[in-house]
Amino acid sequence: MHNAALELLGLEAQYEARDVIPEALKSALEQLVISGAWGCNLSIPHKEAALTQMHHLSPQAQAIGAVNTVLVKNGFFEGHNTDADGFMRSLEEAGVRVGQTSVVVLGAGGAARAVVYGLKHAGAEVLIWNRSSPRAESLAQEFQARAIETSELPASIQNAAGLVNTTSVGLENPDDSPIADDWLPQDWVCDIVYRPLETRLLRVAKAAKRRTIDGLGMLVYQGANAFELWTGQSPDIKVMRQAAMAVLEKL
Ligand code: NAP
Repeated sequence: MHNAALELLGLEAQYEARDVIPEALKSALEQLVISGAWGCNLSIPHKEAALTQMHHLSPQAQAIGAVNTVLVKNGFFEGHNTDADGFMRSLEEAGVRVGQTSVVVLGAGGAARAVVYGLKHAGAEVLIWNRSSPRAESLAQEFQARAIETSELPASIQNAAGLVNTTSVGLENPDDSPIADDWLPQDWVCDIVYRPLETRLLRVAKAAKRRTIDGLGMLVYQGANAFELWTGQSPDIKVMRQAAMAVLEKL
């Protein structure tokens, strides 16, 4: 999606994937400077480890505790996090106004940190459930949210306006769902898993007439925000989305 947007703007640059083992993060970042790169995105497991490698952190990267976008500026590294804005833009696009409603977040991993941050900033009451509850408790404490136990989950979901799945359940298996099919919130369901785009959770929610938001919007918007940081230009969202879809359909 980045290459499609770069080409459309006539920018002579290329976005490439690199496999980097944890021990090689520092040297891979140094290589960015040597090669004259504008920056990079970081994925699991580098997002948290990169915090200490940055010369400057954006307030969001600092608050979320993870860097997904690095900007190289005069040989120095600026660490940003575009996941929270990307997630919130995908909700807005679907017409969801979070306001002071109640939202249940499933999962407490790296992606959940950005999702909880975005929801709390929008004013929502956030309830966090995770398979291993100590992780939910520490995330809840950090972001002034509330951790819930499995026994509280069905009622919490049914009383909430929205539900977000940030666990990797559903990833690559369209028949898996993190919850029972009849545990649905009142208004909307978002599954940030994007492979497949229509997970079981979203299929069931759609059939029950809830608004559904898949993971493509978050993926595209976090990418668009990163693109703006690197190039100073706004990418064509439609072109990025089409390019991402074309790849995801082949997976
Ligand atoms: P992560 O840090 O590894 O966290 C994984 C989460 O899933 C943890 O909460 C883990 O619970 C939970 N989990 C894993 N297997 C489970 C199971 N069988 N049952 C219940 N919970 C389970 O990963 P992440 O970076 O947060 O990513 C999570 C998902 O979000 C992935 O599918 C990823 O592709 C997607 N994602 C999408 C976007 C986007 O732009 N749309 C962006 C980022 C991530 P425990 O703590 O108990 O292990």
